[in-house]
Amino acid sequence: MDFALDEEQTQVRDWVREFVRREITPLEPEVLRRERAGQPGLTGDELAELQAKARASGFFGVLTPQEYGGMGLGAVMAALLETELGRSFVPFRFGGYADNILFHGNEEQKERYLLPTISGERVSCFAITEPGAGSDAKAIRTSARRDGDDWVISGEKTFITGGHEADFTMVFAVTDRERGADGGVTCFLVDRDMGWRSEPISTMGQWGPAALVFDEVRVPSENVLGEVGGGFRLAMQWIGQGRYLLPARALGSCERLVEMAVEQARNRVTFGKPIAEYQAIQWMIADSAVEVEALRWLVLHAAWLVDQGVDSRHAQSIAKLYGGVKANEIVDRVLQIHGGMGYTRELPVERWYRELRLLRIYEGTDEIQRRTIARNLLKGHAKVTGSLG
Ligand SMILES: Cc1cc2nc3c(=O)[nH]c(=O)nc-3n(C[C@H](O)[C@H](O)[C@H](O)COP(=O)(O)OP(=O)(O)OC[C@H]3O[C@@H](n4cnc5c(N)ncnc54)[C@H](O)[C@@H]3O)c2cc1C
Repeated sequence: MDFALDEEQTQVRDWVREFVRREITPLEPEVLRRERAGQPGLTGDELAELQAKARASGFFGVLTPQEYGGMGLGAVMAALLETELGRSFVPFRFGGYADNILFHGNEEQKERYLLPTISGERVSCFAITEPGAGSDAKAIRTSARRDGDDWVISGEKTFITGGHEADFTMVFAVTDRERGADGGVTCFLVDRDMGWRSEPISTMGQWGPAALVFDEVRVPSENVLGEVGGGFRLAMQWIGQGRYLLPARALGSCERLVEMAVEQARNRVTFGKPIAEYQAIQWMIADSAVEVEALRWLVLHAAWLVDQGVDSRHAQSIAKLYGGVKANEIVDRVLQIHGGMGYTRELPVERWYRELRLLRIYEGTDEIQRRTIARNLLKGHAKVTGSLG
């Protein structure tokens, strides 16, 4: 058993760590200032400029296969890099990303949707959730009916990340109500100019998703992604593509938060002593450090299983659930250690407090992860002894 990084992993991780230190962290005060004024932390141009800088050093499409111009790095490497990016709250991500299901497109769809998404010319969004169907995704009502060579889509989607910025959506609609999720849901690639509308939704986080409205939107049949009726499988594939990356990012944030707590504990004096000398504070720091360490190995283990090409869903659910719950406990303790200052918008702690809350909700709530984990154990698909048997 080897818990060490190899030379390549160390080098790549160190490069990203340095990039974050040099290019991203210095932007933090300005990002906080803008967000306090209700503006986006980074403009699209600024993000593109940072992505171009990273690309000049080869950092583009971390998980995108090399044949599509990406780095084609594995899941462990992607998790390590995501953790480094998570150490800053500046909303930066490397360019060169495309949703995994777009790789299932035919050659023409790859030309029109996949390649321009990788290059950053086009922006996608993934739309399955509806006002009446979130955790229970099989309950979607948005429908698509055939009309000659076209399909006509009607319905409403909600909470769609990037839905107000995207110029096309991968939308899931019922094409055979009797079969439902079992062969009756289809995925369509729908350009905005085909007629769907979006409305931003304000949230407690810094960026908002959107509601999408399809009012008899006519879509040519060549815009079906994959097979007619094969949409639900594609949706599950999209959701399962990188669940380990969400807690990986939270891990980086928690590392930074605990470092901030240590610093604050050393410097803040009450009753003539640094608060670091009080056991109440030490225990909060100790518990948080233990949980950060446990989260690191859960994330890396899930990513390692992905790289092994074996079924990683159980491990990914465990990492996502633990990451969501513990990141929220950690940020709460760190806020407490900062006292009144932790509650202000002068520091990023309250920002992380709001942002990390989402981790317990999207891409499978805590309850849905618990349901999955328990079902796997009860049905004998997974063992409590884990992947060591
Ligand atoms: C900021 C944000 C971004 C999002 N981005 C996207 C996106 O890009 N695309 C997209 O399609 N969706 C997106 N979503 C939707 C997200 O995936 C759903 O909100 C999530 O799956 C929960 O669904 P819901 O909100 O309908 O809650 P519900 O399903 O109504 O759940 C309500 C509560 O009941 C619990 N619950 C439900 N079923 C069970 C059960 N069987 N057992 C125990 N408890 C249960 C839930 O855990 C939750 O606590 C996003 C959501 C948010 C907030």
